[in-house]
Amino acid sequence: MSGRKKVSSEIENELFFKSKRRCCICYCIENDLREKQGQIAHLDKNKNNNNIDNLAFLCLQHHDKYDTRTSQSKNYTKAEVKIYRALLLGGTKQERKYGRLPSIFTKHN
Ligand SMILES: [Zn+2]
Repeated sequence: MSGRKKVSSEIENELFFKSKRRCCICYCIENDLREKQGQIAHLDKNKNNNNIDNLAFLCLQHHDKYDTRTSQSKNYTKAEVKIYRALLLGGTKQERKYGRLPSIFTKHN
């Protein structure tokens, strides 16, 4: 599409920094805190809506799954991913502040 707007580098950097390049679905569902090869997903599936509230850093696998429409099984919903994103951003913020992981993760170790 010729009219498609790109996510600005400022917004990209903010997302990378705030998420620590972690995928919020990996983080919340699999307790996977590792850095991921990922992409910026548009939560409302509108590639022109580059409002930061509409964007999330997702790993390739979850981005693919999120964007796939399947009638066989319930896919991740926008509201669900927004909650995962909020938990991820809250968690990484707490790590930066206190230098440790939120207790929901440390009790598994
Ligand atoms: Zn993921």
